[in-house]
Amino acid sequence: MTQPLIIANWKMNPPDSKEAFDLASEIKKGIEGLEVEVVLCPPFVYIPQLLPAKTLLIGAQDCSWEQEGPFTGEISPQMLKNLGCTHVILGHSERRQLGETLEMVNKKAKAALAVGLLPVVCIGEEIEKEMNIVSRDIKNLILAYEPSWAISTSGGRAVSPEDMGNVAALMKRFIPSDTPILYGGSVDSNNVKSFLGPDLAQGVLVGAASLNAKEFIQLVKIAAMQ
Ligand code: PEP
Repeated sequence: MTQPLIIANWKMNPPDSKEAFDLASEIKKGIEGLEVEVVLCPPFVYIPQLLPAKTLLIGAQDCSWEQEGPFTGEISPQMLKNLGCTHVILGHSERRQLGETLEMVNKKAKAALAVGLLPVVCIGEEIEKEMNIVSRDIKNLILAYEPSWAISTSGGRAVSPEDMGNVAALMKRFIPSDTPILYGGSVDSNNVKSFLGPDLAQGVLVGAASLNAKEFIQLVKIAAMQ
């Protein structure tokens, strides 16, 4: 397997920039030299202070499908790219619950790719329908299988490795065979190993556990041994 990809989704945390900086610094130190690709996705406002970030990459949690113009409150893929971001999470179930549609996710993914940002597209409820729309006219996606019921803050529990394998096989019918597939939902240092493998996931999307530096570093170390 190529190096596992670990994406940290900090969501709307932590509450101040010093905490964000300290958390990123501790993680950076703890993962130095490991054979793994780690992307921290903090809230937009913390991105500039976390870049440039040697030993890890920085991504965002959303972007517009427009590159500039009269779109109040939006952040464009071009702006993220210009800052130095490499990835953007799109279509997270917490955004889809607020009204984001799969068509919007598809447009955002194309806008991200147009400026060289890698879209990490989250799906998980109706895989075939979702894959048909989000990957319709796109090649270079990273996909995250993340059913909303598996997310830790919704009281969820992780899917079984067997389910992960079945979903990965299903997703591969729609995408080029080298498309990285990630798993997200209640991943921690105890279970991360069980999701990784050539026929399972090639990385993980981590929410709650990425806000605790020690736990996250431990998770990354275990993933690096796969
Ligand atoms: C997420 O919501 O993207 C996520 C992975 O959350 P958690 O790890 O807390 O389940």
